[in-house]
Amino acid sequence: MIDPTIPGPRLSEAPAVGARPTTAQLLAGRVLYQENARFLPRLRDCVDAKLSGVVMTGKKADERASQLREAGYRGVLLIDSAAYMTHTATPDEPFLLPQDSLFNDLDNCLTFQLHRGADVALTPTGYIPPAASKVLKAVMRAAKQIERDDVVVVLPVDIAWLNPEHIAQFIAACTEIRQPKAVILTRQFDPLKAFKEAPANLRRLVSEVEHIALLRTDLAALDAMTYGALFAGIGADSSIRHAVPAGERPQTAQNGGGAQFPSVLLPNLMRFSWGPTLANRYANAEPVRCDCPACQGRGLDRFNTPDGPTRIESEDHNAYTWGAWVNELAACSSAAERRQLWRDRCAHAVGRYELENVRIEQPRAFQAPPALKAWASLPTGDDTPAPAEGGPRGVSSAAG
Ligand SMILES: [Zn+2]
Repeated sequence: MIDPTIPGPRLSEAPAVGARPTTAQLLAGRVLYQENARFLPRLRDCVDAKLSGVVMTGKKADERASQLREAGYRGVLLIDSAAYMTHTATPDEPFLLPQDSLFNDLDNCLTFQLHRGADVALTPTGYIPPAASKVLKAVMRAAKQIERDDVVVVLPVDIAWLNPEHIAQFIAACTEIRQPKAVILTRQFDPLKAFKEAPANLRRLVSEVEHIALLRTDLAALDAMTYGALFAGIGADSSIRHAVPAGERPQTAQNGGGAQFPSVLLPNLMRFSWGPTLANRYANAEPVRCDCPACQGRGLDRFNTPDGPTRIESEDHNAYTWGAWVNELAACSSAAERRQLWRDRCAHAVGRYELENVRIEQPRAFQAPPALKAWASLPTGDDTPAPAEGGPRGVSSAAG
């Protein structure tokens, strides 16, 4: 049994010998790696068999999932064909179903994912626009009609569903869905920057709803896991660390389509930065170095080319880096200890920004993302006083 009193990362416990694990048992405690299905899949050492797995993500996800299985991948695998990127859910058509094949009803569409190698299926839910209550209700109704248990109901919602006006309605809707459900936050740029309450309200959502997950995100996955999410997924590249409304092109600093520069996770600052930005910041200063197996002590200013090997190396570095944090969180002996550890880690990183800017003599070169500041300063709910400045973990006053 999974201990329901300990939310967040936990080792998935095996079901009885011979019994198939439930969907919740299979996914509990995992922070999955979301591969971009644009690229040929690879077996990656950075994906931990016990605490992680793969969500193949994008239009060709089913084909890529098959290829990954054929390459010998035996870990947990989900297929997210990203229906929400092209289809806006309507009261009549909450899901995007293929029109032109044998698999043209929901049940067949879910079964098809299992045939392509998925362990459980994800519903092909369309994008749920802001304040579209009828659409959200239609998704709930459709979810209630799903009788099988090998399914996660995907909820690709506009971030506006988490604003102070709508969060209670959204929580109520999620609570009505019996299956595990996975929220995907949708908005151009970083959805958690859309309004100031977003990080706190996301935390409230995962705390209050049972068996809820957060997919296609960044380090918000770890905050969600720390505060009760069943599982989460971190995108391999910036295009799959959030979604944009159906039919919109992602607006990024880069031009879409062609080769893209990597976005690199800085371990000391707990942020993703664009490869060329890092090369520029560290052009006249000693770069931050990393000891992960992908970097082996090399500097993080080296991701300044848009080629395939550089992309793969940066993705491995990113996954090793957050994977180490998942391991730390999973090793905590209680939920309270985990919350404390996560808050201290975030507060420590926030405190490092000023030091790093001073060190490289570039005022304001790096600025802490608002979500990181929120994770560092929001109450843990455990009524422990905030650590004093200069405390044992070196937490700075920037936590305030
Ligand atoms: Zn590294």
